[in-house]
Amino acid sequence: MFVLKKSYPVFLLCFSIFFLLNETSQAQSPRKIRTIIVDAGHGGADYGGQSEYEGSLNSKEKNITLAISLKLVEELKKQMPDVNIVPTRTTDIYQNPREKARIANENHGDLFVCIHADAVVLKTTSRIIGHHKETYYTTKYTGKGKKRKKIRTAHTHIVPTRQYYKLPTSRKGTSTLILASHKTSAKIEALEASDMQFETDANDSTLDINYDSPEWKASALLYTQKYFNRSYQLAFDVQNEIDSIGRNNLGVWQRQKGIWVLQATQMPAILIETGFIDNYEDERYLDSDKGQQEIADCITRALIKYKSQVETKAALNADATATKQ
Ligand SMILES: [Zn+2]
Repeated sequence: MFVLKKSYPVFLLCFSIFFLLNETSQAQSPRKIRTIIVDAGHGGADYGGQSEYEGSLNSKEKNITLAISLKLVEELKKQMPDVNIVPTRTTDIYQNPREKARIANENHGDLFVCIHADAVVLKTTSRIIGHHKETYYTTKYTGKGKKRKKIRTAHTHIVPTRQYYKLPTSRKGTSTLILASHKTSAKIEALEASDMQFETDANDSTLDINYDSPEWKASALLYTQKYFNRSYQLAFDVQNEIDSIGRNNLGVWQRQKGIWVLQATQMPAILIETGFIDNYEDERYLDSDKGQQEIADCITRALIKYKSQVETKAALNADATATKQ
C-alpha cells in the first residue's frame, strides 16, 4: 500500500518517469513478437464443459483444448521458427488460472492465446418408452361417533413411462473473446446471451481475488490501455481465418470481467471458443484430427499475419522517429 502525505510529489514524479521511460523504450525498439504462450484451457480435475446431449460422444472440454493446443504448438514451431512457443500444459494436469498467468508472465510472453470450447445450458425433453401401473389411494369416512370408520380405496391407473434426455444445441461455430476496454468499440459486441455457460474463472476458489483492491484496478487499467487494440486485432485475424475455411464465424466478443487469466497476463491476450461441444456436428469436428488441425492452422495463419502487421508498424514507427532526430 502506498503512504502518500509528504511523499506525494516524489510519488508523482516516479510515476511520470516510469511512463516516460516506457514510452521512450517502446518508440526506440521495434516491437518484436518473440514469445507466444499457448494455453490449453482447463485440465485435470477441471473438465471445463462436458457434452451431455443424447447421442453425444461425452467429450470433455479439457481434452479438446489439449488436442488442439498440441497441434497448434507443433504448427507454430514449424512455421514460426524464430519465435519461442511456450505451452502452459502438454498433459492432462490441473492448473488454476493463477498458475497459467504465472507461466505466461515468467516466460515474458508477447501474446497469450487460450484455447477453449463452448457449452450451453441444454433443453431437457422426454419420450414415452412404455406404460406402467400407478396406484393412488383415497380415504373416506363413514358413520358418526364411535362408529366412525376410515375407508381406504386403492385406484390403479396405466400411465406412460417417460425417459428424459437432453437435446443438442443448434448453435455452432467459433468465437474469440477479449477483455473489454472501457472505451467500448461499436464494432465489438458485449457478451450477454443468457444461456451461455460463460467462460469464467470466478468460481475457482483457489483464486480469491479482491476486485476492489488498488493492485487489481491498476492491472485492469494497464491491460485496457496497452493491450486492448492489439488483442482485438489478433482476435479479428483469427475470426477472419475461421471464416475463410467456411466455418461459422461468430465474431469477436468482449467481456468486462470474469476471465481473470486474460487480465492477469501482462500482454495482449485472446480466448478462442473453438466450437460447441453440445452441438452434434461441432462436437464431432472438435473431436476429429481433421477439425483440430484445421483450427490449429487457422490460428497459426492469424498469428503469422498479426506478427507481420505489428512488426511492420513498429519498424515504420522506428524509421519515422529516426528521420525526425
Ligand atoms: Zn473453457
